[in-house]
Amino acid sequence: MTPVIALVGRPNVGKSTLFNRFTRSRDALVADFSGLTRDRKYGDGRLEDRPFIVIDTGGVSGYEEGLDAEMAKQSFVAIDEADIVMFLVDGMAGISGDDQFLADHLRKANKPIIVVVNKTDGRDPDIAAADFFELGLGEPVPISASNNHGVRSLLEDTLAMFPAPEDLGDPLESDSIRLAIIGRPNVGKSTLVNRLLGEERVVVFDQPGTTMDSIYIPYERHGKQYMLIDTAGVRRRKNITEAVEKFSIVKTLQAIQDGNVVVLLIDAQVGLVDQDMHMLGFALESGRALVIAVNKWDGLSEDQKEKVRVAIDRKLPFLDWADIHFISAKHGTNVGHLYESIDEAYTGARSKWSTNQLTTLMQGVSEMHQPPLVGGRRIKLRYAHQGGSNPPIIVIHGNQIDKLPGSYKRYLENAFRKALRVRGTPIRFHFRVNE
Ligand code: GDP
Ligand code: GDP
Repeated sequence: MTPVIALVGRPNVGKSTLFNRFTRSRDALVADFSGLTRDRKYGDGRLEDRPFIVIDTGGVSGYEEGLDAEMAKQSFVAIDEADIVMFLVDGMAGISGDDQFLADHLRKANKPIIVVVNKTDGRDPDIAAADFFELGLGEPVPISASNNHGVRSLLEDTLAMFPAPEDLGDPLESDSIRLAIIGRPNVGKSTLVNRLLGEERVVVFDQPGTTMDSIYIPYERHGKQYMLIDTAGVRRRKNITEAVEKFSIVKTLQAIQDGNVVVLLIDAQVGLVDQDMHMLGFALESGRALVIAVNKWDGLSEDQKEKVRVAIDRKLPFLDWADIHFISAKHGTNVGHLYESIDEAYTGARSKWSTNQLTTLMQGVSEMHQPPLVGGRRIKLRYAHQGGSNPPIIVIHGNQIDKLPGSYKRYLENAFRKALRVRGTPIRFHFRVNE
């Protein structure tokens, strides 16, 4: 699974600065699940083709002074959730009592730890780092987060400690459609997972790299292969009465990373709440194909149904490309229809178009409505090509294209989406200047 890195350390050592470096390596991918977690921030980053998740424990609530009890608690939770901990210390200030306190905790945590000595700019980094040997947590690594010194090699060395997906006989390497079912606690994830797997036409099987208690559940339906990513822990429960495992943001983020299609469950009886929007935001930023399922549709009066529909339309106007299903996981109503959208979203995310096709489309669209003049010269669109898929990326080249107003970009994006007829996946647009 995607490795999870926790950044811990007393206030002001540079955790947020490093967090921003790590997550800025890609389009800004920061989700602040403050409603759920109070003081932890989750981001997702990528080093070349290796995704990872970072948790930052500071800076969220503006603690300025020492490490108080609440912040210590946040650090402990983050350490627990992580695969590896970067323990940040301040190379200018030297070892403090708070550092010692965290070091004592980390020694007992039984997790891989890297002591990261930040703010080594303006000093000999190795000498600055050597001071922190006495924490007894291994060889300290000097960096300067604000100057971006040592940050990349720190990340490379950290990720190198995890096996690359291709070395694992990875279940994710298979051709199946990987389905991540996500949603807040109690929206009905377990019920839906059981419903999907319990369908008569579904054949669940084992495959190399998956086991009975794996969170990856491969199955076949109508001759098509799927792999369900079970964030609800259905399979891991030994019996039906055993308590459902605690909801985990990290597992949700990993599932989004690992999935090709995200099914976001929303509770019709509660409506769309902030936590849903955070999860949605994360799925969108990750560029995943998306299907929305509004669950617990049973037992709602017509009035209530109308209210939920209106609220969803109002809060998600930007999501007109994603299908919304109103389902009852409990009774199975409409669950089968989810597959139509899932399959379409999967296909959409992997669409391929030729440069010729995209350029012709671009010309038609820009003739219908010309780009504006800038400084007496008309912005000219030259050609378009596909820059990637899953999600599809469309790169539009032109003169002065960096001056294209947001409204015109939106016009282009909408026109492309309409003409290309893809549903279920975000499409990213990049604009490149040609001289
Ligand atoms: P946090 O409380 O641990 O999240 O720390 P911040 O990331 O907010 O950083 C605290 C202060 O240290 C800010 O003023 C940063 O600009 C500064 N800072 C962060 N990294 C460096 C660095 O590498 N060198 C120097 N000199 N200052 C840094
Ligand atoms: P999870 O925490 O997201 O895995 O949610 P669960 O699947 O454990 O469901 C939480 C509660 O919602 C349970 O009591 C379910 O029986 C109930 N539930 C799930 N789906 C439905 C549904 O479609 N309709 C109704 N009325 N209740 C449901």
